[in-house]
Amino acid sequence: MPELPDISIYIEALERKVLGQTLVGVRVRGPNLVRSWDPALQAAFGKRVCELRRLGKRIVFGFEGALFLVLHLMIAGRLRWRKPGVKIAGRGGLAAFDFAPGSLLLTEASSHKRASLHLVQGEAALAPFERGGLELFEATPSQFAATLTRENRTLKRALTDPRILSGVGNAYSDEILHRAGLSPLQRTRQLDQATLQRLFEACLEILTRFTEQLRAEVGDGFPDKVTAFREDMAVHGRYGKPCPECSSPVQRIRYASNECNYCPVCQTDGKLLKDRSLSRLLKGDWPRTLEELEELRGV
Ligand SMILES: [Zn+2]
Repeated sequence: MPELPDISIYIEALERKVLGQTLVGVRVRGPNLVRSWDPALQAAFGKRVCELRRLGKRIVFGFEGALFLVLHLMIAGRLRWRKPGVKIAGRGGLAAFDFAPGSLLLTEASSHKRASLHLVQGEAALAPFERGGLELFEATPSQFAATLTRENRTLKRALTDPRILSGVGNAYSDEILHRAGLSPLQRTRQLDQATLQRLFEACLEILTRFTEQLRAEVGDGFPDKVTAFREDMAVHGRYGKPCPECSSPVQRIRYASNECNYCPVCQTDGKLLKDRSLSRLLKGDWPRTLEELEELRGV
């Protein structure tokens, strides 16, 4: 799922491509993509894009007349910048947003089409898309500590719950926990102030580092290779591969149709935890799927 670094880089690229441009039209292929009816999508046609912003893991296109197009890519949704009027090809093609200089192609490489698009009128209509998660780059260490300990969650759940933190998902939470040297199963209320501080710093460091790396890779182009699995990640998606800090093989816990990766030496005092009991523990702290977690409303 595109998370804060990926969404930030999409937004920077979209600012270069479509800010100030007029939306000529939207060609929708995916039957479940558009989730709002009033105003109709056509209301944005002929309108100029006057801002782009991130709302949690969503991308918001602001049009003149206070119309907002809210796009959630979910797990497999991706954006591509193509020549004007590009054909929406293949089963993954969901929609094309046509502008004079080019077309923004939305694809979803999954048989379950979860990506969603809403058009809403007026700033207040964006409120239902707010999950209430803390914006890490606007937070103080004490706000972070208070937010994280509001509920006694496993760290893996707390970091990825959009009601707790904004913009962090499965991939970067693995990296953050590895950086902080903390077990994904540790409960948030067991952490002392120094550990919470270390975790906060790890959040900022990991998100900043990957945002900067993505920015350098994309240059003034468009992010065509957004993926949750990167060679330069320490543990996420690297089951069985050596930890870059200590070389021991990265482990995994499977839960909610997903997996969490960690290094036992760096994060769990060298304990190799049993996958089955762990996944039971994590499942108890989890909705059935990542999609359900993503749709949880603010507290
Ligand atoms: Zn390690």
